[in-house]
Amino acid sequence: MYCKKCGNEISDEAEYCPRCGAPQNVSELMLASTGERILAYIIDGIIIGFVVSALSFPGLFIPFHTPFLNLSLNSVALFLYWSYTEGTTGQSIGKKVMNIKVTDLYGEQIDTSTSMYQAFGKAFLLPLDLIIGVIAYPEKEQRLFNHLSGTIVVKE
Ligand SMILES: [Zn+2]
Repeated sequence: MYCKKCGNEISDEAEYCPRCGAPQNVSELMLASTGERILAYIIDGIIIGFVVSALSFPGLFIPFHTPFLNLSLNSVALFLYWSYTEGTTGQSIGKKVMNIKVTDLYGEQIDTSTSMYQAFGKAFLLPLDLIIGVIAYPEKEQRLFNHLSGTIVVKE
């Protein structure tokens, strides 16, 4: 048997790869449902929307208007928030409430740069990110940027 992550040869009974630590029984991962993910997204959107409007940065605006790219202050704040929370614990506040988390394909915690990658799509390109994901990656229920960053959303 070979490690599913690094290809190291390991014993058949090994639950974790001795070299890279990847768990080998990943079939036990349960994907989060679409409903759970949407609710987590709404909770995060309300929290960040509230914080941004409460601070209300007078005079600050970002002068971009492109058809698919959403570069509002709100989406920049969401990007930073998701990158940090999901890159350190796997969970934003919304995901904590819903008991779901972002992991790599092996159920392991992602690092901050991976988190920035997966967060980029949902913060700035959400409709495209979702629609392409629904069409192209239904088996792992990945957004396009989940697929590109090698991440999934699982039940905790
Ligand atoms: Zn390994």
